[in-house]
Amino acid sequence: MVDYIVVGFGLAGLSFIEQLEQHKKSFVVYEDRSQQSSRVAGGLYNPVILKRFTMAWEAHQQMDVAKSFYEGIERKLEHKLRYPLPVLRRFNAIEEQNLWFEALDKPFLSQFLSPDLIPNTNKGLDIPYHFGRVKDTGRIDVKQVLELYLTYLEHKKCVQKESFEYANLTIHEDGVEYNGVQARHVVFVEGFGMLKNPFFNTLPLYGNKGEYLIIESAALQLEAAVKSSIFIIPLGNDYYKVGATYDHKDMTATPTVAARVTLEQKLKTFLNVPYTVIDQVAGIRPTIRDRRPVVGTHLVYSSLHVINGLGSRGVLIAPTVAKQLYDCIEEGVPLTQEINVNRFYSERTSN
Ligand SMILES: Cc1cc2nc3c(=O)[nH]c(=O)nc-3n(C[C@H](O)[C@H](O)[C@H](O)COP(=O)(O)OP(=O)(O)OC[C@H]3O[C@@H](n4cnc5c(N)ncnc54)[C@H](O)[C@@H]3O)c2cc1C
Repeated sequence: MVDYIVVGFGLAGLSFIEQLEQHKKSFVVYEDRSQQSSRVAGGLYNPVILKRFTMAWEAHQQMDVAKSFYEGIERKLEHKLRYPLPVLRRFNAIEEQNLWFEALDKPFLSQFLSPDLIPNTNKGLDIPYHFGRVKDTGRIDVKQVLELYLTYLEHKKCVQKESFEYANLTIHEDGVEYNGVQARHVVFVEGFGMLKNPFFNTLPLYGNKGEYLIIESAALQLEAAVKSSIFIIPLGNDYYKVGATYDHKDMTATPTVAARVTLEQKLKTFLNVPYTVIDQVAGIRPTIRDRRPVVGTHLVYSSLHVINGLGSRGVLIAPTVAKQLYDCIEEGVPLTQEINVNRFYSERTSN
């Protein structure tokens, strides 16, 4: 008998499991590596949408929760996993600079946008205009977090490295049974894999494939994440992530030649120094139609729960929504309608 079964171990799974750990709940997690989104992510935490200079949804609250969440994980795993890193947005025209200054006066943005225009001093970059700098940003080494945390869970003997087979789940009035294990609750956190989940696959989940190149360039010497037509994100030791792409059609998690060509074409428009492509990675961002997370409990089965739809901002959103789901299940704290899975149930019943 355990309190929870958790299906999936990406950013959403990690965040929910941390809640269970903090509240000393017992659990078993299933992870089959069928999805890669969290493991290939750039890992950036940045509360500002750099296209329009607006705040990302609820990002200022999420920043506080995420900060203490990742600090706590660093302490628990005794490993450096957070890398504070300025995010520099390249201005493409004077008009964009003006929009940046207009945004400086808006609520919350004033806290995160620097009023200083930063000239490009890196000879490896051909960038004629200034940069705007976002404050309080950085990178989480998500792949490393997940690997180390999984090892920690293996030592606790609460991981099954296999697919969760939905057909083997028996649902009772006060809980579930799965392969001989009884649990009070199941939390499904499968990312784009949710499409195979018969309990939640009617939710409007769309994939958005993203690919990165990993390059090595000793000459670049960049110490900030630079956003031009694509991002260059320093990883240390002369390695950089370059990307990402957005593709709504190809839903395989395999890297493509087309993405490599596109990324290299874009890179060469502003990179002046030699580089070598070391690797290419791909994953599917799980996105819900209304671009909000989907969190909550199944319409019929009160033991089945879901967190999904973290889209392109899982690093910031996951710790907050995981806490909200935990507080909802265990303390009865209602979820806001904006994220509650029941917004789609009411849509269905009213049709
Ligand atoms: C290229 C790219 C770059 C990104 N960059 C950033 C960034 O810089 N910052 C940011 O905040 N976000 C970024 N994201 C978005 C972020 O990665 C996602 O929001 C996040 O990974 C979603 O996490 P998740 O746990 O919901 O899903 P996933 O990471 O997909 O995790 C789901 C897990 O469930 C497992 N699973 C599924 N079905 C089953 C089953 N039946 N049995 C067992 N296990 C199962 C999968 O193997 C997987 O490990 C990026 C995404 C991509 C693709």
